[in-house]
Amino acid sequence: MDSSVSRLVSILGLFFYAYYEIMIASELPPFALAYHGVADVPLRRDPVGLFVRPRDLRRQIDRLRSWGYRFVRFGELVELVVRDQAGGAVSLTFDDGLVDNLEELVPILAAEEISATVFVVAGWLGKPYPWAPWTRILNASEVRALHDEGVEIGSHTLHHVDLTTLSHEGAREELEASRLRLEELIAATVGSVAYPFGAVNDDTIDACRDAGFAGGCRTSGNGGWDDPLNLPRQDMDNRCSMLGFRLKRDDRYERLMRLAPARATRRLSRRIRAVTG
Ligand SMILES: [Zn+2]
Repeated sequence: MDSSVSRLVSILGLFFYAYYEIMIASELPPFALAYHGVADVPLRRDPVGLFVRPRDLRRQIDRLRSWGYRFVRFGELVELVVRDQAGGAVSLTFDDGLVDNLEELVPILAAEEISATVFVVAGWLGKPYPWAPWTRILNASEVRALHDEGVEIGSHTLHHVDLTTLSHEGAREELEASRLRLEELIAATVGSVAYPFGAVNDDTIDACRDAGFAGGCRTSGNGGWDDPLNLPRQDMDNRCSMLGFRLKRDDRYERLMRLAPARATRRLSRRIRAVTG
C-alpha cells in the first residue's frame, strides 16, 4: 500500500478508536463514591467500616479507569449533571474530613494524577473522630493544605446534624454557617454539601439552595441524577469487594442487600474478616 494511503488508514483507525472510546465512556452511568478515612485499619477496630485501605483505593481507581471513567471533583460533577453530560464521569468523595485524607489520600491522588472532594464538618476541626476516637478531624491549617493540594473542599454541615430534624430556617443556618466558615478558611468558594447520614427531605433541599450551594449529595444510592441538590453516592466501606463495586456502579448493590440471604452472607463474611484481621 502507498505510504500516504496507509498513514491515512491509520489516522482514520485512530479517529474511530477515539470516537468508540468516547461513545463507550459516555454510556457509563455517572458515579459518585462516598468514602471516609483512608488507612489500613482492621475491621475489629472499624466496626462501621469507615476506612478504606490505601491499596484497595488504588485498586478501585484502577478499575474505574479500566471501565473508561474520567475523574472529576464533585463540584464539576454537579456542573456536568446540570448540562446533562455526567455520563462517564466519576467523583471520589470523602466525608467528615479525617486527618488521613491529607496524609494518605493526597499522595495517592498525586500518583494517580486525579483529584477528589473532601466534605468537612466545619465545627469539628481538630477534634477526635466520634466513630474512631483514636484518630481526628483535620485542623484549620490542614484543611487549607488539602485545598492547596487541589482537593475540593465541600461542606458536611457545621455539627453533623440530621438536617431533616431541623426547621427550614434551622437547616439553612446550619448549612450557610458551615459554608461561610470553610470559605473564610480556604479563601475559595464552597459550592457543594454532603448531607450528614444522607438524610434529606424537600425542605432540606430548599434550605440547601437558599444557603447558597449548587450541589448536594446523599449516601446508600439514595437520590437521583436529575436533581443536582439530591445526587446519589454509593457507600464505600472497608473491604468492599470488586463484585460489590461493580454492583454499586450499576446501582444494584443496595437493592440486592435488601434481600435477607445477601444481608446474611455479608454479615458472615464481615465476621470472618474481623476475626482473621
Ligand atoms: Zn458524615
